[in-house]
Amino acid sequence: MLARVRPIVFAGPSGAGKSTLIKKLMTEFPSAFGFSVSHTTRKIRPSEVDGVNYHFVEREAMEKEIAEGKFIENAVYSGNMYGTSIKAVQDVVDSGKVCLLDIDLQGVLLVKKTDLNPYYVFISPPSMEELERRLRGRGDTEEDAMQQRLETAKKEMAYRDQEGLWDYVLINESLEDAYAKLRAFITERYPL
Ligand code: ADP
Ligand code: 5GP
Repeated sequence: MLARVRPIVFAGPSGAGKSTLIKKLMTEFPSAFGFSVSHTTRKIRPSEVDGVNYHFVEREAMEKEIAEGKFIENAVYSGNMYGTSIKAVQDVVDSGKVCLLDIDLQGVLLVKKTDLNPYYVFISPPSMEELERRLRGRGDTEEDAMQQRLETAKKEMAYRDQEGLWDYVLINESLEDAYAKLRAFITERYPL
């Protein structure tokens, strides 16, 4: 699928601040950006709304739609399935907005094989200790899942410094400072 304006993919370990930064962008520029609502088989969190943060679905239903070719990419993360449907991106593109995607590293590598041609932004925590503090502070991840996410985070962080993989690596230390940098990266590339 070819988008008229380049989408933006946000990646980086769980707890780094991707959703927070995306939410800030969409609040400041509601008519410019639209979120690609992924499908997932994980349980909904208290702060989430079905159809807004994700389409929360059963594994069988998602596997069927994947087999029917309805997804641009899909991956298993921490034991749950996640994926971007063609419709999720198409809806945003059709609305004339810049499409924002929040996907994991496997998703990034798969999207790179498509013609979507987004910018790739890696959101990095300042340290693994701070990442753990943020994940725990969010208070919606059970201990088992926490350990799995921290293990996955270590692997994902190893890709942060890989040459040519990212258009921008943003260290999210102070939220205000990180948002200002993200805003600058984006306003240089899109007429907002
Ligand atoms: P992700 O979407 O990457 O999994 P979130 O946006 O949910 O991460 O952020 C994880 C937690 O860290 C949330 O509780 C969020 O409020 C908090 N957080 C995000 N950015 C910062 C920051 N710069 N400083 C401190 N806490 C932050
Ligand atoms: P969470 O469960 O914390 O919302 O997300 C876990 C991980 O799944 C994050 O790294 C997030 O970026 C990723 N993710 C969310 N949606 C998708 C998707 O559609 N495809 C892929 N590949 N990863 C996704």
